[in-house]
Amino acid sequence: MASKFERFASAGKGNGLRATHEIHAGELLYTAEPLACCVSNTCAKDFCHSCFSRRKTLLRCSQCKVARYCDVTCQKQAWSDHKRECKCLRSLHPRIPTDSVRLAARIIFRLLSPSQTSPGLCSLEEHESHLCDMGEERREGLSQLSSMLQLYIQQEVPNITQELPTVDPLSLLAKLTCNCFTISDGELREIGVGLYPSMSLLNHDCRPSCVMLFEGETLHLRAVRDMQPAEELTISYIGTLAPTRDRRTQLEEQYHFTCQCQRCTTADMDPMMLCGEEKAWAPLREAIPRLENWQTQAYWSELLYECGSLLDPLDGDVPAVPDCNVYRLRVIDLALDACINLAEWDKALAYGTITLEPYRQYYPDPHPAHAIQLMRVAKLQHFLVHLGDAQHTLRLAYDIMKVTHGNQHPLTSDLIRKLEECRAELDRA
Ligand SMILES: [Zn+2]
Ligand SMILES: [Zn+2]
Ligand SMILES: [Zn+2]
Repeated sequence: MASKFERFASAGKGNGLRATHEIHAGELLYTAEPLACCVSNTCAKDFCHSCFSRRKTLLRCSQCKVARYCDVTCQKQAWSDHKRECKCLRSLHPRIPTDSVRLAARIIFRLLSPSQTSPGLCSLEEHESHLCDMGEERREGLSQLSSMLQLYIQQEVPNITQELPTVDPLSLLAKLTCNCFTISDGELREIGVGLYPSMSLLNHDCRPSCVMLFEGETLHLRAVRDMQPAEELTISYIGTLAPTRDRRTQLEEQYHFTCQCQRCTTADMDPMMLCGEEKAWAPLREAIPRLENWQTQAYWSELLYECGSLLDPLDGDVPAVPDCNVYRLRVIDLALDACINLAEWDKALAYGTITLEPYRQYYPDPHPAHAIQLMRVAKLQHFLVHLGDAQHTLRLAYDIMKVTHGNQHPLTSDLIRKLEECRAELDRA
């Protein structure tokens, strides 16, 4: 792939990437394989540890009983990366180290066999650890992880300072917290973590010019708007469906910088995101972590009941919160997810439909989260035989996905097939 961008020193932000040619929205700019990656512990039983596909039944590695694969082919393919890890996992059984420790170990094993690593735009040594910007508590947490890491790899790498003098376990883990990427599936559910060194050069913007999408563990970087030469390529490190204060706090805590992007300095979306009276939406904001916990644990009935009472409080004195308030919107999304899992289709469609207008306003540029939301609603409309609506929603989703996912992505093909089905059914009706 002929590169249309280059590394440069971005004012006030360290290194960055900028366009060297004119770039068009939807262009695939880069495809990268990770230096190392692993499936998250939370979904270790549902995804192949080699190709990252979701499967109902997976073969389990008979030795460590942790790694899982589609078939023997996937297992063979993964063996060079899993061989040393397998021994380490066995040594700790039944304990399984955290995702960041497993990823760090995989990076160390990679670095010990340097023939497998190819030079990119940026090497791991150049990544910043931000150790000195961290509070005492963060550092303490990291040093515990570092002890865990050394215990975990002990059998394979008994003395890391001797074998890899350039790698300090503590700073490696610190580098990972601000440089590794979450690998998600087509529907943006988190499946793993990976390190893609060249992509760590991308700086953050709350209204980014590019998005990252994954196919298995392969990363694709696409432009979501037209760019001129010298314009900086940016991505968003965080979910942007949040008011300025929340976004800045998250970026400061996790990435150690104060965002000065245009959306943060103008706070242009805040009046809409925080609309309604604070005393009315504060309970929604406070409830979100608890509700998200129920979502992770799949307590769908409890989740739906709680969302329902938060969205329609019986207390008549509480003023109504508009649907575009981001905290209310988040609760509606959680309710939608609960309804889908409880097969309450009509209710799911009602919740889903409410979200579409706020999503349209909050994502002025093509964004995968917007496309996925439209897809969810379109599937419900199709299932409930609202064929005209389904066709309309699918078209809106397609207009975004051809930019964010590209026409070759399996999810886009899936969408095109759905659109054809819908057209055929409408013709018959
Ligand atoms: Zn597989
Ligand atoms: Zn194993
Ligand atoms: Zn910002």
